[in-house]
Amino acid sequence: MPEIILPEVEMNIYSPKSPAEATLVENYVCTAESSPNIIRHLTFDVSGTGLEGKFKVGQSIGVLPPGADEKGKAHKLRLYSVSSPEKGEGGKKHLVSTTVKRANEEVDGTFYLGVCSNYLCNLKLGDKLKVTGPSGRRYLLPVNKEEFNYVFFATGTGIAPFRGMIMELFEAGITNEVALVFGCPYRTDLIYPKFLNEMEEKHENFHYIKMISREDRRDDGSKYYVQTAIEDRPDILDPILSKENTLIYICGMKGMESGIYHNLAKRGHMGYLRLKGQPESDDPNQWSWEEVKKMLKPSERTFEEVY
Ligand SMILES: Cc1cc2nc3c(=O)[nH]c(=O)nc-3n(C[C@H](O)[C@H](O)[C@H](O)COP(=O)(O)OP(=O)(O)OC[C@H]3O[C@@H](n4cnc5c(N)ncnc54)[C@H](O)[C@@H]3O)c2cc1C
Repeated sequence: MPEIILPEVEMNIYSPKSPAEATLVENYVCTAESSPNIIRHLTFDVSGTGLEGKFKVGQSIGVLPPGADEKGKAHKLRLYSVSSPEKGEGGKKHLVSTTVKRANEEVDGTFYLGVCSNYLCNLKLGDKLKVTGPSGRRYLLPVNKEEFNYVFFATGTGIAPFRGMIMELFEAGITNEVALVFGCPYRTDLIYPKFLNEMEEKHENFHYIKMISREDRRDDGSKYYVQTAIEDRPDILDPILSKENTLIYICGMKGMESGIYHNLAKRGHMGYLRLKGQPESDDPNQWSWEEVKKMLKPSERTFEEVY
């Protein structure tokens, strides 16, 4: 196993008290247009600020939405994962991209719109916004990135960092294996499908596994989720996960990591995990959900960003 050398990063060049001003230069739907789960690709121009060329993929950019909450307090900062590669969107170091889902929820018959995500998605080209960052120190590709294989697990906008990481790995000419497991409810919710399908066509060592939870059914009638890919696609994943120089990255919905860890343990891929405490049984199939959540933690080969 090669040493995992993480890059030095600059953090918080701009804070909420003294944010930078960026300009929106790109804003388009990056799922199918017909999806009710609207996700948009946004690009910010940070020219003339200290943020040019400073974001590494895996880090996040902070956004300060204008206005105040119902108590009159200024809205708080929200973080968004950078989805452009280190050299910038389209190779331009002053352009930083992210992938934003319009957050909304109905509670007791009242419909609430998320403040910052809808503010961002409503922005028009040329609009200015206040941004902070970079944020995040560990969720990064190693400097010696070509020495590893990768399995990326994403749900929803958890795809954001992997778009940039996949671009970087293949631009660097990686010959090792890279697999992306992406989970979403319907096929119309696939994010960046054109880019990912093209990458799969172009590169034999890139594997794009789609887990569609509300359309497809497994043989036993249960649903496909990112974690079930470990059991459902052993043909692709077992050989990669069995290699000593493979790293796992997880990004998306909080809670998704526990199912992934449990299924890794069930298939004997313990190198990605650390046991905190002693489970009652030696057989991972016997572990309760409580044990899984409490005891299975990521090892140094596992990177996790869930929100
Ligand atoms: C490290 C990190 C990276 C992230 N990366 C991304 C990313 O790449 N893309 C992305 O889209 N998000 C990302 N997020 C999440 C993002 O920061 C925001 O949390 C998200 O956009 C929702 O913020 P919002 O202001 O739109 O919603 P908020 O206004 O904060 O509301 C949150 C939810 O509560 C609901 N709500 C609002 N008011 C009420 C109420 N009174 N009662 C009940 N429900 C209510 C809203 O509809 C919404 O669904 C990331 C978070 C972290 C921590």
